[in-house]
Amino acid sequence: MSDSSDITFTVWGARGSIFSGGADKIEFGGDTTCFSLETERGLLVVDAGSGFRALGQSLMARGDDRPKVIDLLLTHLHLDHICGLPFFEPLLCGKTKMRIWHANQTDGEVFRGTLECLMSPPVFPSMIHFHGLDLHAPDAGSAVALGIGGTARPFELNHPDGAAGWRIESGESVICIASDHEAGEAGIDAGIVEATRGSDLLICDATYTDDEIATRKGWGHSTWQQSLEIGSLAGAKHILMTHHDPERTDAAITAMEDAARAAAPNITFARSGWQRIL
Ligand SMILES: [Zn+2]
Ligand SMILES: [Zn+2]
Repeated sequence: MSDSSDITFTVWGARGSIFSGGADKIEFGGDTTCFSLETERGLLVVDAGSGFRALGQSLMARGDDRPKVIDLLLTHLHLDHICGLPFFEPLLCGKTKMRIWHANQTDGEVFRGTLECLMSPPVFPSMIHFHGLDLHAPDAGSAVALGIGGTARPFELNHPDGAAGWRIESGESVICIASDHEAGEAGIDAGIVEATRGSDLLICDATYTDDEIATRKGWGHSTWQQSLEIGSLAGAKHILMTHHDPERTDAAITAMEDAARAAAPNITFARSGWQRIL
């Protein structure tokens, strides 16, 4: 039986860098980063990769019962995290407003200008979506009051051009996202452990394998082993590994998941459509 403070968490996209389809990428899906958290009070979304389009379609199927206001937290403005914005149909029909929170860009004009560029010619044919957007750039450490109830606080990640993770506290639950992040900067890693302490669900970066990471230094991502270490130090109850490399097949990700679960049982590699009630 669900209760009014329950959060339904859903994965809409778990791929990193670029959409990657094909018959060998069905189970985990090809869409890029997008997660939603829904309560009786509202809908919160983290990142608007290509999976954001599928979320929009599912909301449209609800007709007039869909949320009138949506909060969207962005980790950063790399294309795989915002490319779904122009294709989000609830905005197109004009009945949905969206508040977007982006903590990684101190210059609010760069934030606004980047989204305007993404949704206007010659990149995209019109800007009509843009009028439903309400943009906010909260200061580091400040708490954002969420429409689902509770708060979200940004924290620093190690990523080219910068990125911010989020600690979301709503009802009795703590859900944190710490992707995209390259482990290895001791101060930033320690800050993440502190910021995500006691997570019921911690979303982590598992882009690379141990074999790959040596030649990917500075690319801004981690292995599942590095993310497990951070999650273990933070006492995370469950770790959701994400940002799967575009080349990674279902069989390859399943092998990584099996190896990770042998090391710690409470790990899931994110699949589009995966849900959990918190
Ligand atoms: Zn990314
Ligand atoms: Zn990135």
